[in-house]
Amino acid sequence: TVVTRFAPSPTGALHIGSARTALFNWLYARGRGGKFLLRIEDTDQARSTPENTQIILDGMNWLGLDWDGDPISQSGNAARHVEVAQTLLANGHAYKCFSTQDEIEAFREQARATKSSTLFRSPWRDVDSADHPDAPYVIRIKAPHEGQTTLHDQVQGEVTWSNDQLDDMILLRSDGTPVYMLAVVVDDYDMGVTHVIRGDDHLANAFRQNLVYEAMGWPKPVLAHIPLIFGPDGKKLSKRHGATGAAEYQGMGYPAAGMRNYLARLGWSHGDDEFFSDAQAKEWFDLPGIGKSPARFDTKKLESICGQHIAASDDAALLQELKAFLAATDAPALTDTQITKFSDGMYCLKERAKTFPELLDKAAFIMTERPIIPDEKSSKNLDDVSRGILKDLTPHLQNASWTRDALEQVVASVAEAHGMKLGKLAGPLRAALAGRATTPSVFDMMLVLGPDETVARLQDASG
Ligand code: GLU
Repeated sequence: TVVTRFAPSPTGALHIGSARTALFNWLYARGRGGKFLLRIEDTDQARSTPENTQIILDGMNWLGLDWDGDPISQSGNAARHVEVAQTLLANGHAYKCFSTQDEIEAFREQARATKSSTLFRSPWRDVDSADHPDAPYVIRIKAPHEGQTTLHDQVQGEVTWSNDQLDDMILLRSDGTPVYMLAVVVDDYDMGVTHVIRGDDHLANAFRQNLVYEAMGWPKPVLAHIPLIFGPDGKKLSKRHGATGAAEYQGMGYPAAGMRNYLARLGWSHGDDEFFSDAQAKEWFDLPGIGKSPARFDTKKLESICGQHIAASDDAALLQELKAFLAATDAPALTDTQITKFSDGMYCLKERAKTFPELLDKAAFIMTERPIIPDEKSSKNLDDVSRGILKDLTPHLQNASWTRDALEQVVASVAEAHGMKLGKLAGPLRAALAGRATTPSVFDMMLVLGPDETVARLQDASG
């Protein structure tokens, strides 16, 4: 079975690029009945914090990227990493290197002077059973120095490195702690990871990590190094381009489903499909669909896809998500009355809203209580003539049955009686019902508000 993993370092917020990496791994596993594991790479004790880990977990939860089992902490596996280094030492694939920092620096200076490679070549590599009981040492892997190494990457194709570019990388430092490059391989192997999907900034690491697989005789995972995300200007996505953290997009009120859809399309494609469901994404996602060149982050496209997801959402599910959005911000929770009206009105509110703040903005007529104070623009629609018509309309509405057809008929006939086009009455009605010039349709608002509230608002405005 397929096993993928997301292996973030908790040294900062969950970057949108990392979220995409997590999403690709999640889609790949979920589409194949596989497992998706989460490993927190917290070996850099100085920069890793529990707060950052929590931010990453929160981001994953928001995006709905559920992982199997408990998150694994890489630092918790240190004993196992040491054990593997010792195994490699015992079977001759690694050696103790007693070279001091000064000696290494002298080597490099010499190399620079003679214009040869500055990759350190330890004199201890071929010394039999080197032991200096009291001298500090590191454990280095015996890398091949001749020939070439070719890795088959599902995105990059065949990537070949000359082995004289490989140094005998350190596995265990002189204080006995394992290095990150060893930890990644041991953990991936122990976790049974079959597919490593990650940013192509790790491609060079893959050659170093490959040494450990070779030396241990372990099966190698399938590799897929995905191009990084660029900003609209073609440079690596960074703060200069605006928001880069998943949490920032959550805070701006983008729906998680839209975000998943957009991130999936960022660097991966399935024909011309732009808008799709999770089920489709899981079914379609594959490695050949990942592009070789960096995708550009496009806020307009994100908004368009999010708008489509909001419009297509189930009303009740959307309301839950809206409540979660409000709970995560400092905004007050919805009252019971507002919740009822949202449930009744979601069908019209969700049209053309790209974010939750936009949805709330369209719902201003629900969120605002009487008396409605029209804003500057809409108050211009409430002149004496239109007030008179609204006043005349009120008793008719009091007797109307509360269906769209009936309401349309009542309003049309009152407008006609005053020699006014129905459309001309929309402005005054909007001002009275919502205090704004831009709202859902007046009939939708009436249906959602109900007869008593509608009549009361018209009376307030015409009074
Ligand atoms: N911890 C690494 C990072 O956050 C990922 C390593 C990997 O996926 O192999 O960039």
